Order: sequence, then structure tokens, then C-alpha cells
Amino acid sequence: MSNRPEEHCDLLVIGSGAGGLSAAVVAAWHGLKVVVVEKEPVFGGTTAWSGGWMWVPRNPLAREAGIEEDGEAVRTYLRHELGNHYDEARIEAFLAAAPEMVSFFRANTAVQFIDGNKIPDMHGNAPGAGLGGRSVCAAPFDGRELGPLVAKLRPPLPEISLLGMGIASGADFAHFLNATRSWTSFRHVARRIGRHALDLVRHGRGMQLVNGNALVARLLKSASDLGVDLHAKAPARRLLSHDGAVIGAVVDRDGQEHRIIARAGVVLACGGFPHDYERLKELVPRNPTGRAHWSAAPRSNTGDGLRLGESVGALVDGGLAAPCAWAPVSLVPRRDGSFGHFPHLVERAKPGLIAVTVDGRRFVNEADSYYDYVEALLKAIPAGAEPVSWLICDHRFQRRYGLGFAKPAPLPLAPYLASGYLRRGKTLAELARICGIDPDGLVETVARYNAAAAQGRDPQFHRGETPYNRMGGDPAVQPNPAVAPIEHGPFYAVKIVPGSLGTFAGLKTDAQANVLDTQGRPIAGLFAVGADMASVMGGTYPAGGINLGPAMTFGYLVGRNAAHHPHSSATGHPP
Ligand SMILES: Cc1cc2nc3c(=O)[nH]c(=O)nc-3n(C[C@H](O)[C@H](O)[C@H](O)COP(=O)(O)OP(=O)(O)OC[C@H]3O[C@@H](n4cnc5c(N)ncnc54)[C@H](O)[C@@H]3O)c2cc1C
Repeated sequence: MSNRPEEHCDLLVIGSGAGGLSAAVVAAWHGLKVVVVEKEPVFGGTTAWSGGWMWVPRNPLAREAGIEEDGEAVRTYLRHELGNHYDEARIEAFLAAAPEMVSFFRANTAVQFIDGNKIPDMHGNAPGAGLGGRSVCAAPFDGRELGPLVAKLRPPLPEISLLGMGIASGADFAHFLNATRSWTSFRHVARRIGRHALDLVRHGRGMQLVNGNALVARLLKSASDLGVDLHAKAPARRLLSHDGAVIGAVVDRDGQEHRIIARAGVVLACGGFPHDYERLKELVPRNPTGRAHWSAAPRSNTGDGLRLGESVGALVDGGLAAPCAWAPVSLVPRRDGSFGHFPHLVERAKPGLIAVTVDGRRFVNEADSYYDYVEALLKAIPAGAEPVSWLICDHRFQRRYGLGFAKPAPLPLAPYLASGYLRRGKTLAELARICGIDPDGLVETVARYNAAAAQGRDPQFHRGETPYNRMGGDPAVQPNPAVAPIEHGPFYAVKIVPGSLGTFAGLKTDAQANVLDTQGRPIAGLFAVGADMASVMGGTYPAGGINLGPAMTFGYLVGRNAAHHPHSSATGHPP
């Protein structure tokens, strides 16, 4: 008999990102006693750093706007994108439950959404691709509504926020880019920054929450309203099993091990393995040390969920199309000597930028998705060579749109040049020499690109030919919002290394997020959601939001199913 402190609940959730909190909120709404344990001092994981977009085809917000889609088109698109990774049972479960999930949260919780009715799928030339209406995002949220809990909300990723203030995609972001050109944008930005400064003085952090920060804040508010027991600084160490079923876990709290017994089961929601160097070594190509992968996810996501699952006989599915949600990353020197991992999600599609490898040649349509960029890079670099590339632009581009972490005008360039993050050359040849790129290759590549770019064309890689490319471009530039010449020096470059937004390989589950053993049988009492679950998209990236949409949806299914567990104390109806 152990003398560790022991507590009992219905559902124990390990990890507090979208997957875990969705399960927790739904289970609690059904009357279950829910405990969430989070290893970090702050809640929210990668989700709190994310764009907050969720891919939810046929969602209620799209339908209300008159976008009535045939479910078959979505299936056609997914079959085309996923190929032999298409798992019909899991896809059907996702497509059926995802719109229900949105309706549930809207009707019953503080989680409210804005629509993505103009956001196209990533591969617009593929059959069944959507032109909009397949995604939603968390609505902005006033952090003050969280009360003291806001102090435990993970702040936005410093590299992609402005002095700790998140900037929402769409209109908000466009205002920031146009602040020096339009009075309306200037007023918008001045108001946002003014309010942020006040928040910093009064609350020590920003309170105008947007994107993934708003999603986590809304989930936390809902969880707290429903009486979920939320514990930060409480890493789960081991699972507890009895007769082949998982019945709880041992968790560190206040320096002491606690046993938490969970009648309806345990949810693994630890956010995958973006910083588990052993597993990265095993699964990520061109990564012999495990350290040549620079994920933008929090460093504390170290693969605990996958190891906990394996400890009770679960299987990690490493056979997906890709092990990670690839993203091009640049390394931002920080004052303490470490490097921030800046994910290049936005500026690559703006007109007047190309990417080259060290031979000075292009290898990809840079306006395609972050995933496609890294996939193409890994293919382009010969075996044994370092998989790096460079983003190249001219002075006009850098000042207009920024280049990665090096922000646009009116912010000064000097700090980025001084830290070595941003490289500058008076001519393309000089820039190439500074970066170790073949100068003749780069000069020739830019000349070739410019010749067609002057007419808004990119015959080599077809920038701007899909709705997704055009959405990412600059609508003021015509005829092709994603193409413009690179001509007025000085010229700039930023080095890009392969990274990710998180991981795709994960625990094998069935269509209800039950974790499977090596024989394909559910392990009683064990569920996996979010990045701990092998990606339902089979390691492909068909659309923005394909991590959070499924994370929220399978969390919703787990929470709902737990309410029907025979040993849970569910009241069967909301509190
Ligand atoms: C900059 C950026 C933008 C992105 N934008 C989008 C987007 O718009 N849409 C989209 O779909 N995806 C996006 N992603 C990816 C997406 O954010 C992640 O895939 C998703 O948030 C993972 O959710 P999760 O619930 O699985 O894990 P997380 O949100 O990472 O949460 C896991 C939590 O578990 C905790 N944990 C780990 N181990 C333990 C343990 N032993 N005990 C207790 N707790 C533990 C971690 O500390 C963490 O807080 C983005 C990612 C980044 C980096």
C-alpha cells in the first residue's frame, strides 16, 4: 500500500493545450469531476502560441453565411491529399464531430469563434479543394475576464508578437503593415499599442488576446467556470494500470508524488515530441543527431505523452507521410545566448521574395504552405549536405513587409543586422558571398525570376496561381499579388533551417481516440488527443488548422464519451 497522497476523479487530463482542455471542458459540462495537470507553470502549450485556426469543414459559421458544402467534396480533397494515409473510420469520425464540436462550444461555453469563410485550402488545384468556409478561429478575448487565472496563461511566442502583444491574422495584421500608409490603419495600431502599454503597466501582460492565446484563454475560462481542477507545475510521471486498464497516473505536485485515480480514464494531451531529440533522431530525415530540427513549439513538449503511452503497450505510428508539421524556421539570437525559433508563416507569399539553396537556385514555390516549403527543401538538398536555404529580398520588400523576425518600417533594421540575424549586401553578388551562397547562381536566378516577374508571372514555380498563394500575397500588387521583381538594393537574406509547428507521428488510436495496443486493440481507460494522437491527416498538410481542428474535435469526443462511462459520476446533463 503506497502512502503517497491519493485523489479520485472521473477524468484525468495530462496537458493543457487545445486537445486536453477541449476534453476537460466537455467532460466537465456533462457533470464529470475533471482534473487537468500541466507540467509547465503556465497553461496552453503550443496552442497558446498558435494562430488559433481550426479546420472544420461544414462548420456552423460557414453555413450561417450561406456556404453549404457537399461533404463529398471534402472527402474527395482529403482522399487526394492523404493518399494511402486516408483512414476512413477516423476521417468520418472527424468530419461528423467537428461541426458538432463548434456548435457545442458556441452554445455552452466561453469558447466563441470567428469565421474563416475566405480562407482557401492549401492546394487549390487539387480536386475538392475548398475556397473558404472550412475553418474557424477563436474570437479575440479580453484577458481580464479570466481573473487571476490569466497569470497562468502562457504568453504569446515572443518572436512573433510585438512586445508581447499578439497580432491577429487578417484585418488586424493588414493594419499593422499599413500603419505608415493609411490613417485608419495608423489609428488602429495606435489604439492597440496604447491599450497594450496600459495592460503592461496594470496587469504585467497583454490583455487583448487573439489567435491561439484567445483559444486557450477561452478554454481556461470555460474549464474554470465548470469547476475543472487545474494544476500547473504538475508533470505526470507514470501511468497506473490495473488488470490491463489504465486507472490513473502519478503526478508531481509541490515536490511530492500524488496518485490521481480516474474512474473514466486518462487523456494523453502532452503536445507530441517536438523537442524529444531521441525520437526526432529516429523519425526525422536528415537529422542524424536529433538536434537538426528546430521546432517552434515550446521546448517543454518533450514527448512525455508518447512515452507514457508506450509504457502501457501503446504503439507510436511512425509511418506517416511526414513525422512533423514542417515549417521553415530562422534562428533568432536572444540576449541570453539562446536562439528563438521563428516560424516563417506569412512573408514568403508577399511579392518580391524568393528562396534559394547554397547554389543560388530556387527549389520551391515560396508562396505555398510552410509544410510544402520544407518538404521541397528536404528533396532539393543532396544526401549528406546540410538542409539549409535562404530567403532573399530587396530593400523595398524588407521595409514594406519585413523579413522574418526583422520587422518592417518604421522599426529600425540596425538590431537585426548587428545580431547577425539579417544579412545585407549592396549587390546580390555581395549578399551571396556574405551568406556563402554561389554568387553567379544567385545573380542568374534573380535575373531569370525578374524577367517574368515584371509581368507578374513565375513560369518556373507558378507563384500566385492558387487562391492560397494569392491570399498570402499583397492585394495592392497586380496582376499577381504574390509576384514582383527583386531589384532595388541593398539586398537582404535570412537563413532558413528545417523546423515544424509541432509533430504528426503519435500514438495509434481508433476513431474515438482510444489508444491502441500493438495488436490494434483499445487499451481500456487510455485516450490520446492533439499531437499525442497520430495525425488524422496521415502526416500531410491539406489546410491551415488541421492540427487544432482535430485536437478540439477528438477532445470533444473523448469528453462526451467519458460521460457515458459506467463508472463515471456523470450526471448525464449539464450542471
Ligand atoms: C507559431 C505556431 C502557429 C500555429 N498555428 C496553428 C494554427 O493556426 N492551426 C493549427 O491547427 N495548428 C497550428 N499550430 C500547431 C498547433 O498549435 C499544435 O499542433 C497544437 O497546439 C497541439 O495541441 P496539443 O493540445 O496537442 O498540445 P499543446 O498545445 O502543445 O499542449 C500540450 C501541453 O502538455 C504539457 N505537457 C507535456 N508533458 C507533460 C506532462 N508529462 N505532464 C503534464 N503536462 C505535460 C505541455 O507543457 C503543454 O502545455 C501552430 C504552431 C505554432 C508553433
